[in-house]
Amino acid sequence: MSTAIRKLEKRKKIALIAHDNKKKDLIEWAIHNKVALSKHSLVATGTTGKLIEEALDQPVVKLLSGPLGGDQQIGAMIATGDIDVVFFFFDPMEAQPHDSDVKALLRLAVAWNLPMACDRTTADFLMTSRFMQDEYEYKLPDYTQYLTRKI
Ligand code: PGA
Repeated sequence: MSTAIRKLEKRKKIALIAHDNKKKDLIEWAIHNKVALSKHSLVATGTTGKLIEEALDQPVVKLLSGPLGGDQQIGAMIATGDIDVVFFFFDPMEAQPHDSDVKALLRLAVAWNLPMACDRTTADFLMTSRFMQDEYEYKLPDYTQYLTRKI
């Protein structure tokens, strides 16, 4: 059984994604948390990243726009350990052309046991957790059985 531990540094690598109907919500939330967010590095899907960068006057690594591959880029970064925390304000009321990418991103965040907030209230709880400012260690899920399965 694997007991791999992942350590998150004080400065977290935060991913930000918001669907169009939720962008206003995420921007308002980010402005409210401007000081706290300035202590971390930010990465975002293209349009969300541009808006956050303007609103916070803080550099944001901007990936492709979500429907053009940005969600998948975030998913890949989750899998390679390049993202620590996810704030993903998805739209629960409207189907997206890239629903499969949205589902994949959510699935990978859970598969890798990542802290993730998908609405403003949870984002407040997560952002005010002491673990956001401290180092934090957690056990990675054990996928050795999956990796060593007989095919
Ligand atoms: P966007 O992508 O930030 O480029 O708008 C978000 C998404 O729909 O995944």
